[in-house]
Parts: sequence; structure tokens; C-alpha cells
Amino acid sequence: MLPVIALPDYHVHTFRCGHAGGDSRDFVQQAIRRGLLEMAFTDHIPLYFLPLDRRDPRLAMREEQFDEYVAEVEELRREFRGQIPIRLGLEADYAEGHEETLARWLSRADWDLVLGSVHWVRGDWIDAPGSAARFDREGTEKLYAEYYRLLARAASTGLFDVLTHFDLPKKHGHRPKAPLTEAEDAAVGAAKKAGCAVEISSAGLRKPVQEAYPEPRLLSKIVAADLPVTFSSDAHAPAEVGWGYEQTLEIARRCGVREFVTIEKRKKLTHPLTGSAC
Ligand SMILES: [Zn+2]
Ligand SMILES: [Zn+2]
Repeated sequence: MLPVIALPDYHVHTFRCGHAGGDSRDFVQQAIRRGLLEMAFTDHIPLYFLPLDRRDPRLAMREEQFDEYVAEVEELRREFRGQIPIRLGLEADYAEGHEETLARWLSRADWDLVLGSVHWVRGDWIDAPGSAARFDREGTEKLYAEYYRLLARAASTGLFDVLTHFDLPKKHGHRPKAPLTEAEDAAVGAAKKAGCAVEISSAGLRKPVQEAYPEPRLLSKIVAADLPVTFSSDAHAPAEVGWGYEQTLEIARRCGVREFVTIEKRKKLTHPLTGSAC
């Protein structure tokens, strides 16, 4: 199904991350077929914060793949010029205490946008296969609180243009008994101060939780705080580009989203959500 409005997809992976498949060209073709406004490749940054022997090649590109990744996106951008704008992006993990190393990695290319993700919480992955057991072992409240603390820290670094999957710990279906509103507010406040946008991601609809990120209650809070939002699928396969946008658009409208941003060379451009139907 075609989306009812031309939106960007600002979270798309390539085979290099080890858990995505398909020819990068096919991701672009799918974006064109869906009538998307733009797309950005945002593959997983090498796991710079872990020692080399602990870097799982099924979770992120290896260091030696970084330059060829950037070169491929530049090449695709040229190849598809006039058909769809392709932005050069990166999904960068935030890892507390490793900010300088991250800044060095980010200085290696002329990005359109850098996504900030917190996947590494209390010394382990929060969302990898197998991480569900952590919630029983370590406590759902504790993991959520630490996650939001790190998300706020990530935003405050000023290194990121967009915060990804805002309520990621819900992925496997775990929720705190009551929302941790203070921790959420601190993350929203930090994003606001840093000028970070938040992605409305359809990926959660494909996960056990079966709910887009962020959940409607949180998205309404983000809208009330006047944070910029954008749209993404977190595609790991060509068919996932622009996937679920009928639903996320509907959720966005219900939560009061009136505008979205596109980003080029780290500058945000605002578009009305209504009135750009294609
Ligand atoms: Zn991934
Ligand atoms: Zn991703």
C-alpha cells in the first residue's frame, strides 16, 4: 500500500550490520515505489565502545567496512539523483564515558544526519535477542530508569540529530507498573535543549510489543514539548522501507503532530504534516 502522504524514511540499514539483508539498491527502489519524500541510510556504527574481541559482527558493521559504507551511499545518491534524495546517515550508539571516541568517528564523514541510539544499558544490550530475560533478572523499573538516564545524556552530548526508538525497553513487551514520568521528562527536556528530533518509528509494530515507538502517551508529551519529529521504519530488509507508515501517520495525527522535519547536512527543515499529500 502506498502511504497517503510523502514522508521521509530516516532509519535504513545495509547488509554490513550483519542482521540486515538485501542489495542496498533494492532499499532505494522500495522507497521510490512507496512514494517516499526522501530516505537516509543509517547503518550501525562499529561498536567503538567495546574491545575488539567483544564486537559481535551480527550487531554492527566492522571498522574496516566504514569507508566503503560511506562510499556506497554517496554512489547511490548519485545514481538515484532526480528520483529520490538519499541522505548519508549513521545510527550511532551512545555509550557513557566513550563520547570522545564517538565524536572522532563522527568526524570521519560529512553526515546529513546522525541518529542517537541507546542500546547498551548497564553493561549489556537492552534489545538484542536474549535480552528479554534481563527484565526479570534486573527489574523492569531499574532498566527503564537507567535507559532514560542514558537517553538524556545522549541528547545532551549534542552529537545527535535524531533520537531513535524513544521507548525501546518495551520491545519484548516489558513495561514498568507506572510510567517513569520524571525520567521520561528529563530525556524529553534534554532533547529539547539540544534541538534533537525524535523519530516516529514503525519498527515496534513488527516486534513482540506490536506498538510503534514512541507509544502514543509519550508522543503526545513530545509534541506538547514542541520537539521536532520525523518518520522512520528502521528497515533491515528492502520490504521494510516505509513499512507501516499508514499506521504511524495515523498515530502521529492522533497525537497532535502537525509538522515533521527533513534533515540535510545536519540542518532541519520543517514541513506541514497536512497538505503534502501525494
Ligand atoms: Zn539493527
Ligand atoms: Zn536501526
